[in-house]
Amino acid sequence: MTSKLLHISTIGCQMNVYDANQISGVLAPLGYRGTDSIDTADMVVVNTCTIREKAEQKAFSFLGRLAKIKSAKPALIIAVGGCVAQQEGEAILKRMPHVDLVFGTHAIFRLPDMVRRIESSRCRIVDVRLSDRIDVDRPMTGPQTDGQVSAFITIMRGCDNYCTYCVVPHVRGREASRHPDRILEEIRLHVQRGVREVTLLGQNVNSYGNKEGLCTFAELLERVNAVDGLGRIRFTTSHPKDLSEDLIQSFGRLEKLCRHIHLPVQSGNDEILRRMNRRYTRRAYIDKIARLRTVCPDIAITSDFIVGFPGESDRQFKATLDLIEKVRFDGLFAFMYSDRPNAPAAGYSGKLNESVKKERLQALLDLQATITRQKYNSLIGHIFRVLVDGPSRGTSADPHSPASPQIRWSGRSSANHIIHFSVPDRHPLNNELLTGNFADIMIEGAHAHSLWGRLIDDSMDDRPGKGETTIAA
Ligand code: SAM
Ligand code: SF4
Repeated sequence: MTSKLLHISTIGCQMNVYDANQISGVLAPLGYRGTDSIDTADMVVVNTCTIREKAEQKAFSFLGRLAKIKSAKPALIIAVGGCVAQQEGEAILKRMPHVDLVFGTHAIFRLPDMVRRIESSRCRIVDVRLSDRIDVDRPMTGPQTDGQVSAFITIMRGCDNYCTYCVVPHVRGREASRHPDRILEEIRLHVQRGVREVTLLGQNVNSYGNKEGLCTFAELLERVNAVDGLGRIRFTTSHPKDLSEDLIQSFGRLEKLCRHIHLPVQSGNDEILRRMNRRYTRRAYIDKIARLRTVCPDIAITSDFIVGFPGESDRQFKATLDLIEKVRFDGLFAFMYSDRPNAPAAGYSGKLNESVKKERLQALLDLQATITRQKYNSLIGHIFRVLVDGPSRGTSADPHSPASPQIRWSGRSSANHIIHFSVPDRHPLNNELLTGNFADIMIEGAHAHSLWGRLIDDSMDDRPGKGETTIAA
C-alpha cells in the first residue's frame, strides 16, 4: 500500500481534538500517515467548530486559503469535518469548489469508504447524517505520540439540554453514551502506551449512561479509578443542574480523581439563567459549590460565563460579578454572546452592541485576574505534586546546550495549575525519565496564568500521591 500524507487542522474544543485522533485512526488503514505540513499533504482535513461566530469565520478563512494550494496541486483531497460541516452541509460544496468532502459529526467511521470513492473517481461527497445512537463504538487511540502523558476520552456525544444560546444540540445531535467496557478498553490501550492521565469528555458528563441505562457517571469513575497504571482522572463538562451528591462524594472517595471541577454557570442572575434555559438558580449553584468544598476543601473550581446575553441589564451583569466575588473561582472562560443558527436566543430582542459586550467582558476578566493573583500568591511556599508533561515550550530540551544551564519543565497539579520548574542541566534527572512521572514542586512565584517553583530532591517517582498542598515548614 502506498503511503500518503494526511494533515488535520483542528479548531475548537477538546472533543474536536479527540475526533482528530479518531480521523487519523480510521484513515491509517488506507495508508495515510500524519504530517504537520499542508504543502506535502495528499489530504487535508479541516476539523471545524461553530460554537461562536468567530470560530466559524476562522474555519472559512482557513478553507479559503486552501484554494490556492489545491489549484497548484489538483490531486489534493480537501475534507471539512466537525460542527461547521454538520451545520452547513452541501452549502460548503457550493460555496467552495475546491472542497471534495463534507462530513458531519457522526460520519467519522464512514470516512474510509468516502475517501476511497474520492480517490478512485474524484467525486464530491456530503455526509451529514445524524443518528440517535452510537452505531460504531470502537476503542481507538489514534497515532502514537512520543511522550504523550495525557489523553482525552470522549464518553458520550451530543446534548439534550437546549440552552437557548447554544448550537451544540443542533450540530452534535442527541445525547448518546458509549458503553463503559469500550471506554475502559480505550483507556487501557492508552495506559499501555504510557499515558498517565485521562480526561473524560462529554457536554454533560453528569447524565452519562442515563438514557441507555448503562451505569451512572460516578460508577464509571469508580471503574476508571481501578485501571492499573493510570495515575489521574479528570472530566469535563459538568452541568450544574445534574451534579449529583454521588458525584460530589467521588471527590472524597476516589484517589485518582483530580481535585478540580469545571462547572459552567454562564450568569449570576436568575432571570438570565431562566432565559438561557439553564434550569438551575444562582442559589442552587452556590449550594453545590458549598457541598463540593465540604467534601473536598481544596477542590479547584472553574467556570464558563457568557456576557451580553440578549436583554442583559447592567444590574443583571453586576449580579454575575457579585457571583464571581462570592465563589472566588480558580479560573474561568468568558465569552461575548454570539448569535448561532437555530439557537432560540438568536431571535430574542434586546441585543447588546459589541462595545457593551467588550466592556463587560473586560470587567469580568479584570475581576477574575485579581482573584487569581491573590489565590496564586497565597500558594507560594506550598508543595504540589505535579504530573510532568515535558520540557516547557520555548525552552531548550537539550541538557548540553550552553544556552540552557537550567532545563525548564512543566506539569500540572491535581487542581490543574500549570507549574513550571527548573532542573540544573547536569542533574541526573534531566532526561526523558522526568516526562510522565510525578514530582513535588515547591512554589516560589506566580505568573498571571501559571506558577513556578523548584523540584524537591528525591520526590520524583511514578506515584501520583495523595496530598496536594502540603504547607512548607
Ligand atoms: N456543555 C458545556 C456546558 O453546558 O457548559 C459547554 C459547551 S460549549 C462547547 C462551551 C462554552 O461556550 C459554554 O459553556 C458557553 O459559555 C460558551 N458558549 C456557547 N454558546 C455560546 C454563544 N452562542 N455565544 C457565546 N458563548 C457561547
Ligand atoms: Fe450547549 Fe447547554 Fe448542551 Fe452545554 S449543556 S452543550 S451549553 S446546550
